[in-house]
Amino acid sequence: MSENLIAQVQSAGVVGAGGAGFPTHVKLNAKADTVIINGAECEPLLRVDQQLMDRQAEKLLTALDLIVDHVGAEKGVVALKEHYHAAAESLKKALPAHPKLSVHLLGAFYPAGDEQVIVYEVTGRIVPEGGIPLAVGVVVTNVETALNVLDASQGKPVVEKYVTLTGAVRTPKTVKVPLGITVAEALALAGGPTVPDYKVVNGGPMMGKIVGVDSAVTKTTKGLIVVPAGHPLLVSLERPVTDSTRRAATACMQCSLCSEVCPRHMLGHRIEPHKLMRVAAYGSLCDPEQTPMNAYLCVGCRLCEYACVMGLQPWKLNNNMKNILAGKGIRNSLNNKPEHAAPFRDYKRYPVHKLIHQLGLAAYDVDAPMDETVPAFRSVTLPLRQGAGAPSEPVVSVGAAVSKGDLIAKIPEGKLGSSIHASITGTVTAIDGDSIVIQA
Ligand code: SF4
Ligand code: SF4
Repeated sequence: MSENLIAQVQSAGVVGAGGAGFPTHVKLNAKADTVIINGAECEPLLRVDQQLMDRQAEKLLTALDLIVDHVGAEKGVVALKEHYHAAAESLKKALPAHPKLSVHLLGAFYPAGDEQVIVYEVTGRIVPEGGIPLAVGVVVTNVETALNVLDASQGKPVVEKYVTLTGAVRTPKTVKVPLGITVAEALALAGGPTVPDYKVVNGGPMMGKIVGVDSAVTKTTKGLIVVPAGHPLLVSLERPVTDSTRRAATACMQCSLCSEVCPRHMLGHRIEPHKLMRVAAYGSLCDPEQTPMNAYLCVGCRLCEYACVMGLQPWKLNNNMKNILAGKGIRNSLNNKPEHAAPFRDYKRYPVHKLIHQLGLAAYDVDAPMDETVPAFRSVTLPLRQGAGAPSEPVVSVGAAVSKGDLIAKIPEGKLGSSIHASITGTVTAIDGDSIVIQA
């Protein structure tokens, strides 16, 4: 294991380029026998990774070789959906120069990109409840993150981000933009919204969050989806949990369809959302195996809502139970390691095209061609926290002249976090507790 690579990745500020943004230098400080590049891009409408795997296949495999060697693995696998034809073709063409590497084609189901699901699909190993892939000797990394690791090894910090701009926008596209521009500025690159009244979902429609147009593009922004006001997706995301709980108490018929599709239940983990509905709605513990603690095994993929014929939201109730437990200082204590996945799991995988129709997003399931020309911006506002862990501490003052790539905030001593670099050349014009502003 090269200490040097960890230091380079840390100093370049690499975090998981989607999701929670876990600092990559911590993830790479490990020994594993297999490294998986997660190219599933399972969130509907997003188009970043599938195009990067096509356009930068050779660079991605070089990055994967670097990570494989670093963690002492025997092999590296790029796992992507079988219908990403161009990406699969480009990767297969580049493979002969990388003898330790291979490509694994996944079916078109959701959530193929769930870390634990992809580990099972590729290796047949089941990550224990509440565990991480490293528990079964696997490191999983996202496509863009791996490319950033290679850049870090060459001294290039993370200052830009690939983002798919889609939904109700004039010209859906995938762009490369400086960190710290606003959501509105990013959407303008796609011609702006086509509807007067809308909200923006940051991430995918399944696990993304509604954000304001003034919020910043960060290291974890992967997609910005303009959703017209009143769309069922917004109704689902914005429904208060009290309403969801009342509906659970009155309408849940305990059919268990939600549990039948739950990807973690299908891996043999002790989560059964239909039973947790009883716990959340009635406080019922009639099955002593299902207590509020089991909600910790929910990954929040939201699939249960779309399997439910009553349109109920087990995921939201699970989130609420997790928050209540965490608020009382109670942590997950479930850590079984199932021997087998659920019987017939392979027949219960949820087709992504069906999901897109159920989400009411079929009209937006279109190409979003990539443009890698980074546009110039006059100003950026860089949040001091752009991933998991503590906010970074500024190392510049107001009035300082900075060049693109300069370190402007570092990880606090002894804390988990990621450093931040100037994403444009200019002058620092403001620093507050949350962000640093740079004007060109
Ligand atoms: S699918 Fe819906 S109705 Fe059926 S058990 Fe789950 S939450 Fe209840
Ligand atoms: S959101 Fe629903 S389907 Fe997904 S892991 Fe949680 S309970 Fe299972």
